[in-house]
Amino acid sequence: MSEEIVVIEGDGIGQEVVPAAVSVLDAVADFQFVEAEAGDAVQAETGEALPQATYDTVADADATLFGAAGETAADVILPLREAVGSFVNIRPARAYPGVDAVRPETDLVFLRENTEGVYSGHEDRLSEDLSTLTRVVTTSASEQLAEFACEYVADRGESGFHVAHKANVMRETDGRFRDAVVDVAEREGVEAEEVLMDAFATRVCLNPGQFDVVVCPNLAGDVLSDLAAGLVGGLGLLPSANVGPDNALFEPVHGTAPDIAGEGAANPSAAILSAAMLLEHLGYDDEAADVRTAVESVLESGPRTPDLGGNAGTEDVTTAVLDRLD
Ligand code: ATP
Ligand code: MG
Repeated sequence: MSEEIVVIEGDGIGQEVVPAAVSVLDAVADFQFVEAEAGDAVQAETGEALPQATYDTVADADATLFGAAGETAADVILPLREAVGSFVNIRPARAYPGVDAVRPETDLVFLRENTEGVYSGHEDRLSEDLSTLTRVVTTSASEQLAEFACEYVADRGESGFHVAHKANVMRETDGRFRDAVVDVAEREGVEAEEVLMDAFATRVCLNPGQFDVVVCPNLAGDVLSDLAAGLVGGLGLLPSANVGPDNALFEPVHGTAPDIAGEGAANPSAAILSAAMLLEHLGYDDEAADVRTAVESVLESGPRTPDLGGNAGTEDVTTAVLDRLD
């Protein structure tokens, strides 16, 4: 039986780039697509940004392709990550021939802890003057991330990864994170090279080629992967995956891009590359590689959307990718 893929376009350019990615998936595999709603539009209609039906469908599916949500982003994506039990956010950031990049040699993958750290939702207003945030780090979540990272580098035929942290200052929380990751790596025979996250920010700008797979706590992974997005030429190119034990959700790193939404000018590459990650996750490795090659070929020789200096539309780029796949 063919896998069931939930498709959530969401708001803004999600409604333009997700259909592009679905047409690419449809061209290379025999999936059953189930549309579901989430985001600002459904909130305005029903009062709920994430209907229970959408949550349940995502939790039961083989995988989900998600676009973007606007004002309601936190109300949508955080529970959806929970629906797939996602403990790791995979964020590749690589430069492509033909696309202007600050650092064309950039080819990184961030493996970001996806459930805790400062994003675990424990904030308090203690007085008129004082607010606090509780940073949550567990050995179990850190180990789960590290085990995934060990498998990930082994699959890629690499010997190790970097682990970014700030355990010299946050000795208890990042100390726990660092110790758990390093211990798992040692047990698995994988090299885990430590790097302080602030030093990483400088070093990756100066010489991204010295890094490959980077394992990070939640906030650090968010910020450092956005920094890497800047090195490779912008948001229109960056896919991501939220992976859980037996489910996953794939989404472009960019948001709803309200400034260009509705113009048919959004770059579909990030969404199509997210679809390639979905294919790979479900074991369609050849199809994933074909899609990546097709996107790379279009990025190199056009057509290009305005964010990459061209004047083509979303559909022109999608058609070009589909043509390369034939
Ligand atoms: P949101 O609050 O939904 O994240 P935003 O204003 O932060 O919206 P993003 O989608 O995060 O917008 O993107 C920031 C800018 O990057 C956009 O305004 C847009 O110009 C550009 N951008 C993002 N994604 C794309 C894309 N796929 N194609 C072209 N340009 C894009
Ligand atoms: Mg944004």
